[in-house]
Amino acid sequence: ISISELSSEQAQKELSQLANLLKSLDHAYYNQDEPLVEDATYDKLRQRYNKIELLFPQFRQKDSISQKVGIKPTGGLQKCKHLIPMLSLDNVFDIREFEDFIKRIQRYLDLKPDELDNLHFVAEPKIDGLSINLTYKHGKLIQASTRGDGTTGEDVTENVKTLRNLPLTLPENYPDTIEIRGEVYISKQDFFNLNKEQEKNNKRLFANPRNAAAGSLRQLDPEITRSRPLSLFVYAQGYSDKSIADTHEHFLERLQQWGFTVNPLFKVVKNAREAEEFQQSIIHQRSGLPYDIDGVVYKINSVTLQNRLGFIGRSPRWATAWKFPAEQAITRIKKIEIQV
Ligand code: NAD
Repeated sequence: ISISELSSEQAQKELSQLANLLKSLDHAYYNQDEPLVEDATYDKLRQRYNKIELLFPQFRQKDSISQKVGIKPTGGLQKCKHLIPMLSLDNVFDIREFEDFIKRIQRYLDLKPDELDNLHFVAEPKIDGLSINLTYKHGKLIQASTRGDGTTGEDVTENVKTLRNLPLTLPENYPDTIEIRGEVYISKQDFFNLNKEQEKNNKRLFANPRNAAAGSLRQLDPEITRSRPLSLFVYAQGYSDKSIADTHEHFLERLQQWGFTVNPLFKVVKNAREAEEFQQSIIHQRSGLPYDIDGVVYKINSVTLQNRLGFIGRSPRWATAWKFPAEQAITRIKKIEIQV
């Protein structure tokens, strides 16, 4: 039934059902690393939830999932708080929506049309892994944690130390405390090999590289993580007691100087047309890349403008993920208990 045809009563009931369903799906995906449905199906359910909520704001729950990031972590790993929250990203799906994203920024910053020329973006492939927060104090890695519900994650410090391309110390000129954020992922080939190995040992197969990476990182025994071929790309700053770059591009360069791996395909684009060109070029390269991506993230390059724009709800105003069209997929929903 189309959303505009829903009666109040139906809308209220469906919102409550969808909230329960999405919570179950989140638990399976984030806490058990075992998704029950394809991402495209999950995204459609979430979009429907958000649209109903927008049309019937009177039924919006105080702790609505539309404002939430991930889910509260459960399980045996220690919990730890991020110094500043780890958020999600808004999505766009075509150039029109990308232009709307630019217009919202223009309005918020009250920019004149000619000032728009200075609004540059850094485009980065959106890696399909799980986000990680790395805290360095006096140049030493002291803690690594998963995103969790954005405020509290799981402590995976010992596990990340087994990653090959992670610097445990920063070489020079670092703030006293800094959070570096990125994505832990597993390559397509390593995922294939890992599942072959799992099959040989009669162990459960992972649904996709993202879940294999999450399942491998969130182990209680770091030795198991060590045996898994995990890699890392870094792309963001959380808390820092000192500014380390004036633009996102310079920030990425600094991370490279410190020995981190930054995705080599990142590029500065100056407008929606250049973003679309970049989008097309990444879509062409996608199947040949050794890792999974599900879109391109566009971030305002100027750190001053990022700070002026700040955040809204669960996402920064200064960035968006331009997602790829969903690949055709067959969906199988395992048994899901819905309590209404
Ligand atoms: P998201 O994954 O769409 O976007 C935010 C995330 O992108 C960030 O947290 C970060 O980890 C990641 N990212 C990758 N590359 C990045 C880069 N270069 N710069 C910045 N961030 C980058 O949104 P979300 O809220 O984290 O999660 C929703 C995703 O999880 C959707 O794709 C959804 O389909 C999936 N999901 C699926 C199920 C399921 O049952 N199949 C359940 C829950 C969530």
